[in-house]
Amino acid sequence: MSAHVLDALPATGIDTVRRCRLCGGGLEHSFVDLGMSPLCESFLAPEQLDAMEPYFPLHALVCGTCFLVQLGEYVSPEHIFREYAYFSSYSTTWVAHAQAYCNMIAKRLNLGPDSLAVELASNDGYLLQHFKPLGVPVLGIEPAANVAKVAIGKGIPTRVEFFGVELAEALVAEGRQADLIIGNNVLAQVPDLNDFVAGMARLLAPEGVITLEFPHLERLMAENQFDTIYHEHFSYFSLIAIERLAGRHGLKLIDVEELRTHGGSLRVYLAHAGGTWRTAKSVSDVLAREHRLGFRDLATYASFAEQVRRTKRRLLAFLIAAKDKGAVICGYGAPGKGNTLLNYCGIGPDFLEFTVDRNPYKHGRFTPGMHIPIRPVEALDAARPDYVLILPWNLKDEIIQQMRHIAAWGGKFIVPIPELAVIDPKDLQS
Ligand SMILES: [Zn+2]
Repeated sequence: MSAHVLDALPATGIDTVRRCRLCGGGLEHSFVDLGMSPLCESFLAPEQLDAMEPYFPLHALVCGTCFLVQLGEYVSPEHIFREYAYFSSYSTTWVAHAQAYCNMIAKRLNLGPDSLAVELASNDGYLLQHFKPLGVPVLGIEPAANVAKVAIGKGIPTRVEFFGVELAEALVAEGRQADLIIGNNVLAQVPDLNDFVAGMARLLAPEGVITLEFPHLERLMAENQFDTIYHEHFSYFSLIAIERLAGRHGLKLIDVEELRTHGGSLRVYLAHAGGTWRTAKSVSDVLAREHRLGFRDLATYASFAEQVRRTKRRLLAFLIAAKDKGAVICGYGAPGKGNTLLNYCGIGPDFLEFTVDRNPYKHGRFTPGMHIPIRPVEALDAARPDYVLILPWNLKDEIIQQMRHIAAWGGKFIVPIPELAVIDPKDLQS
């Protein structure tokens, strides 16, 4: 992970021209400027604290033509994904989500021994493994060799490569076409969107279906989830932008589902535009709602920045007042998104004495940029803080339940997103 910090930026990687990665239009409209920030997964070891630390602009822009919200590419995918620290199978809820999906889609598309299901960014095989008992042949595509190795060990055929037109052509030349292509939480991390989607269209059998899951921009804006913006996520999608992207590559939207994963996601279904699949009403329903909410109007995007600045002021006003009264404040969690929040708001060890995390890899390390020490969860019991700031707000219910004993010393929780909330565990029903 530390190598990730030191050589993150090839000098030529900066796109000074600023062209939309979807439609090629000029990018001149700001969505939200979160200032300069280090890469959010670059946790520091003690010996790195005195070294220089690379910071990159965290300024999301919106395209005035196709309305794709996006960041410039400051860090190459090779750096993020060749050696990936995230093993999907560690999250039991995510594996259960994948299993339910496999059972559903195999039935819906009538997949069998003559079909082929291909997953892009197949990680450690957390999803494709569930097609085995269903008798559906699979192929994983995964650029991170360390996680791909785990999948191969489970008997899941996996190509250790980045996906795009070149690989799709090679697979087609081998006589392979996909009846199902799956891309879960990968689209945001693809810098060359058009090459990726063109590759999917090339690999897809004439009546095949593509399903993609990604966090929905509508939820990000409605729930003020600005901390989910970080350098490794290049794009933030509305259905309007997805429809445009699909159309460029001869694909059409045939269905969409709204999921609760990752703060609110969409699962879209795509097929060849010339195929026989009919488009479900859900597609026009969500498109109409986005239209009504102003997702085709730049003013809607412009209003988000002030909402974010207001959140920062409210959070800081609370923390400053609490510190003035002598309060001890600690954090809970050290997720990537926590680092966007901490760096943007300038919350360092002057506010948070330390934060705690359940991942032992992070213990003894420091958060990027703000250098807040990360300790085991038990450290909270010794420190008895007046407030615990919950950084992974998407898990707040679970964390408050686990940590409700802080009531014993009068401790309270602070939840920063969507709006500052102070929760006294004494008020909770047992
Ligand atoms: Zn565009």
